[in-house]
Amino acid sequence: MLCCSYCGWPNLYDLEADHVIPRSRGGSTVSWNLVWACKWCNRQKGDKTGDEYVAWRRVFPALATHGPYHGYELIPPRYYPMSS
Ligand SMILES: [Zn+2]
Repeated sequence: MLCCSYCGWPNLYDLEADHVIPRSRGGSTVSWNLVWACKWCNRQKGDKTGDEYVAWRRVFPALATHGPYHGYELIPPRYYPMSS
């Protein structure tokens, strides 16, 4: 099942393509740099890298609120590549 790479949100209709290394920091639109992320994580991630965003969620769980999970991961973060 496809989930958000950062919070584990499982609803496909809320998932978008995310650049692990943001375009603003030199990341390109190639398959290894594209993963699934929910629209809320995608917006909060901004110009952070994937690893930076995961760390940010751990430091500021109260800010990383969306869906029913309120900042706590449903499942541990792992990348769901778009290419598979
Ligand atoms: Zn998410």
